[in-house]
Amino acid sequence: MNLLIFGPPGAGKGTQAALISKRYKLTHLSSGDILRAELKTGELGAKIKTYQDAGKLVPDALIITIMEKAIIKNIKKGGVIFDGYPRTIKQAKTLDKFFKAKKINLDAVINLNLSETEAVKRALSRGQTSGRSDDNIKTIKTRFTVYNTQTTPLLKYYKKQKKVINIDGQLAIATVFKTIRQRLDK
Ligand code: ADP
Repeated sequence: MNLLIFGPPGAGKGTQAALISKRYKLTHLSSGDILRAELKTGELGAKIKTYQDAGKLVPDALIITIMEKAIIKNIKKGGVIFDGYPRTIKQAKTLDKFFKAKKINLDAVINLNLSETEAVKRALSRGQTSGRSDDNIKTIKTRFTVYNTQTTPLLKYYKKQKKVINIDGQLAIATVFKTIRQRLDK
């Protein structure tokens, strides 16, 4: 099984993806985490950091290369859950082509719904412990604008493919996970 988790910044994608990956034995591929790891080791680190700190998307060509490398490395181990990728139509179309070429099927897109107020609150409170330089109010606001303009069109794209599972992401972590499990086990 290959899944994609979708939702605004602060929706709990990372948290739920970790629980899902454990339960269904999927590799968790978080583009944010992969990029942050790249900051430490890769030569592209400085460039990536400028985008992340501003709350802007890393250019498509760059993220596509990085993610394809990560997918190839992990797909042989079994299913994956994508978290934070794709985030633009260009990324989604490229991923579809890549899947087709590799005969990989994307089974479902889990869409975590929650209000912007709640999402901002969560991202801000995470910032107090995560040490993530982009979890501050100014950057969070930009990340939301980016999400609303560049990323939400993906929902329509995946709805056309009949892959979207809508989940209320406003509830407690365990409740959200329980709902996801019920939907996936069907
Ligand atoms: P969140 O989902 O809370 O916004 P992430 O850790 O997924 O946080 O992403 C943090 C940052 O990493 C983004 O603001 C962006 O700069 C970069 N990033 C992550 N995924 C992508 C992507 N698919 N395309 C472009 N940039 C990305």
